Amino acid sequence: FLQGRSALITGSTSGIGLGIAKSLAARGCDILLNGFADETVVNRLKNDISSNHGVNVHFFSTDLAKPEELNEMCNSIKSMYPVVDIIVNNAGFQHVSPIDEFPDEKWHDLLEVLLGAPFRLIKAFLPGMKTQNYGRVINISSAHGIIASPNKSAYVAAKHGLVGLTKVVALETAEMNITCNSICPGYVETPIFEFQVKSLAEKESLEYTEAKKKFLSNFHPSKEAVRVTDVAEMTTFLCTDACRNMTGSQITMDGAWTAK
Ligand code: NAD
Repeated sequence: FLQGRSALITGSTSGIGLGIAKSLAARGCDILLNGFADETVVNRLKNDISSNHGVNVHFFSTDLAKPEELNEMCNSIKSMYPVVDIIVNNAGFQHVSPIDEFPDEKWHDLLEVLLGAPFRLIKAFLPGMKTQNYGRVINISSAHGIIASPNKSAYVAAKHGLVGLTKVVALETAEMNITCNSICPGYVETPIFEFQVKSLAEKESLEYTEAKKKFLSNFHPSKEAVRVTDVAEMTTFLCTDACRNMTGSQITMDGAWTAK
């Protein structure tokens, strides 16, 4: 159902973003990848996605912490795709530190990548979406866009901000068949999550599955992690016509963590 459409997914060289890119490509959508990775990895990803799904795939190594690089990326995308139909603001990273020791430059970069870049990309591509009365903006926020944990000041502030930005964009586009939603996952089974579980397993001499349950029981009442494919399929669902009236929402996928 997405044949002839195009999607920019930031931070799509690994984890959730890559899962989203594959899921959208499987529905026939051209894919604009972005993120950090070796040239060999990037070439493999591009070849895999285009040969598996018969879609065009482009890659931009743009550092989203740098607005001038982001502008260059937008210009080259517009020379190929005057209208980008779907934007998934997914790129992100974490820095953990008490606020009184939190480095200013980390605060700046986190806010720029997690919140500044989504603002700039929406601003750049919304006019194109308006010309055709179709557009989908999906912001990958977090459970930390709804609740907080200590030592994550920049991440929690940026993810809450992204939920707010989502609502404003939804209001400004409400009459145009353009939707803007945020997905707020709890812990997702990515390499970083597996690393945290393995550390706990080693520290407490537990089996991996036991350690995983123990780790998650502090957060997810379900004691289950969210799968990358869960977030990817939810993103794809938001692009369907069935979701034309679903806009300005924050969709939690966290085993009831934020319901507490
Ligand atoms: P990941 O580390 O696997 O992927 C992050 C992606 O962002 C990579 O492609 C990386 O190259 C890219 N990236 C990082 N900094 C960048 C920059 N300055 N410019 C351009 N690209 C940059 O992480 P993930 O777990 O897949 O996370 C993806 C998103 O999901 C993030 O926004 C994260 O906050 C959010 N999230 C993750 C979890 C989780 O448990 N993994 C939970 C909730 C929300």
